Amino acid sequence: MGLKKFIKLIKDKGYTVLENQKFCDHTTFKIGGKIRAFVKVSDEVSLIQLLKLVKKYKIKYFVLGRGSNLLCSDKTFFGVVIKVELNTLTRRNDYIISGAGVSLFRLNTYAINCGASGLEWSYGIPGSVGGGVKMNAGCFGKEMKDVVHCVTFTDGKKIYKRFAKDLDFGYRHSFFSNNEYVILKVWFKVNFVDKLQVKNRSNEFLQLKKATQPCEFASAGSVFKRVNGITPVPILLEKCHLKGVGVGDAVVSTRHCGFIVNTKNATFRQVFKLICKIKKTVFKKFGIILKEEIVILR
Ligand SMILES: Cc1cc2nc3c(=O)[nH]c(=O)nc-3n(C[C@H](O)[C@H](O)[C@H](O)COP(=O)(O)OP(=O)(O)OC[C@H]3O[C@@H](n4cnc5c(N)ncnc54)[C@H](O)[C@@H]3O)c2cc1C
Repeated sequence: MGLKKFIKLIKDKGYTVLENQKFCDHTTFKIGGKIRAFVKVSDEVSLIQLLKLVKKYKIKYFVLGRGSNLLCSDKTFFGVVIKVELNTLTRRNDYIISGAGVSLFRLNTYAINCGASGLEWSYGIPGSVGGGVKMNAGCFGKEMKDVVHCVTFTDGKKIYKRFAKDLDFGYRHSFFSNNEYVILKVWFKVNFVDKLQVKNRSNEFLQLKKATQPCEFASAGSVFKRVNGITPVPILLEKCHLKGVGVGDAVVSTRHCGFIVNTKNATFRQVFKLICKIKKTVFKKFGIILKEEIVILR
């Protein structure tokens, strides 16, 4: 089935399809072209049904969280972008149970308000719970794997549940890195302590991020993974004199040279060229092949 017919089909089934969206308005990099069909899903049943339909009719699709780890092409995306807006957030016993679409910022605010400790380090990461778990987001020596208890997810047929020990968590990697499952809900194991303690700790981490990351510019966070999960890339880039180097409006941040920033109107091609230039330079000097942490959607 063609995309036009598919859009009509899902509209007939009650989905609201936005046809004039652009990736640059849905990503923190502020880069990316038109999206032919953009559908927000705010309940599990609609998400599962939509997944089933895109798969049945072999329609190209992409699952979007908060777009904070993405570099998207400037060309039109001829498919369906499924924006995960599963936004439920509750607590039960020692757990916070969060929909995959909840922003980490909202999760942190919730944790602060109920004195739940364990997630403080993630305050200020601009992603969603689903994106965070898929990437095993982390900073300051902590990662999602330290606080995730279990996850429910779907392939459009069934809902599955797995505990953290079976989620193959590694450095910026999880069971979800190499498959098409969509995360629905996450149970976080937290400790209920004094509210003020959680608030202060969270704010400390937030201030640290603000002081070290180029928050004044659009970006997608660290572009490359640490080498072997250990050597920080900024050290290598500094040694290669790549700090401040740019292609058009895409520039290696001077504040945190693991970030490429969009200083004005950077394009996909400019960022991509800069990534290639960095990889080539680092390989020439150290013989190291850098791997991207960001997801590149062409
Ligand atoms: C200023 C800045 C600072 C950052 N700091 C950090 C940091 O300190 N530590 C860190 O780890 N990262 C950091 N990041 C990167 C980013 O915020 C995280 O990787 C975040 O977890 C990505 O979540 P997202 O919802 O934005 O995912 P998206 O960018 O929307 O998507 C990323 C990937 O996850 C997939 N995905 C999204 N939702 C789901 C779902 N429900 N089910 C299955 N797959 C899904 C997408 O298809 C895509 O493959 C930073 C980014 C910025 C811009």
